[in-house]
Amino acid sequence: MLHKRSLPRSVSRDLSRVLIAKLRLLKWILLTPPPATFAKGDLIKDLGDVGNWLFPRIRKPTKRTAFGKALDTLRNHAVTDPPGANNCYAAVVHDIGFHRHWGNPGFGMRFQNLDSKWQDALKPIGEQFYHWLALGDGFCKHRFGLIGNNLTRRQVMESFHAQSHGVCGYCDGPAGESSDDREANDCDHFFPKSQWPHLAIHPHNLFRVCKGCNSTWKLDNTPMGDGSAQGIGGTYHPEFLPGAGLVEVIAECAVPGSRRLSINIDDPIKPRRAASLDGSLKLRERWSNQVNERLDASVSELVSDAIFSRRREGHVSEEKLREIIDDLLFRETEKLGQRPYCLRYAAALRFQRDNHIAEILAEERGAG
Ligand SMILES: [Zn+2]
Repeated sequence: MLHKRSLPRSVSRDLSRVLIAKLRLLKWILLTPPPATFAKGDLIKDLGDVGNWLFPRIRKPTKRTAFGKALDTLRNHAVTDPPGANNCYAAVVHDIGFHRHWGNPGFGMRFQNLDSKWQDALKPIGEQFYHWLALGDGFCKHRFGLIGNNLTRRQVMESFHAQSHGVCGYCDGPAGESSDDREANDCDHFFPKSQWPHLAIHPHNLFRVCKGCNSTWKLDNTPMGDGSAQGIGGTYHPEFLPGAGLVEVIAECAVPGSRRLSINIDDPIKPRRAASLDGSLKLRERWSNQVNERLDASVSELVSDAIFSRRREGHVSEEKLREIIDDLLFRETEKLGQRPYCLRYAAALRFQRDNHIAEILAEERGAG
């Protein structure tokens, strides 16, 4: 959520086509529920060639797949509660348009406000669409009218590679090796699919992130809280509101008298955005640990720079050392988003410039 990430247009367009096909399926089931014994012909009549692709994944009433059974449950709800089905479909359509309303202060999601029977019924359907993307051949180019090849999660994740420069867009750490199948496929749902299953294959909801962010820290955490307007207004979005230009990253002394640092993250305009970022990814803890692991090496590098300066110029003043640190800071800032760790290293350098100059000079004199 720190660095801007977005799917290339070609991939986003194909994923949108699959999403629209899924929406047509939901519209058919919810607004004009078919007979319980609906056949392949009914599917094709309403969904075109996508029906041909779906039918073996649903099968006849006597031999329904798990996905077919989930559709039957949704259909039965729609038959017994038509106003509820209308409301459910309206919430799904409303939420799917979230990318057009990001930044609108009154915009909140609606799915989480539906009666739990609708949320429970939609969940296995949304998740199944994601499984089809993640496993096997993905979505068929011909049946879904895609412009690229069959659409798979691997392809979606790899399409982020060129813009990532090896940096995780969420935590500013290393993104992971793209040559590794599993890491290339580490896919985060910004809106977790467990709570917003209708966004499980949404082109503005899938992001390639590092394994730590996806598998250890974010999991089903929701930076957008309950999805209300207040929750959405209090979070960054990887595509529409990346946080790197808005956060203030500050290093502070963790324990008086020691060199250990703690990293704090703030957002002077909307503190809740920084709090929700940290709440879902535990960045303060992760960044503090990592910076402290590297701190001794960083001080040694500064001492070496100071020694080098003394040998070349005959002396090294506090002012000169500040200049050396400012140069390093400039380089970190210049490489922001193109090299891992820039935000936290810059904060640690600022702290050293403002608090450790005398200490570093004393070490330099000792070493010299
Ligand atoms: Zn990460």
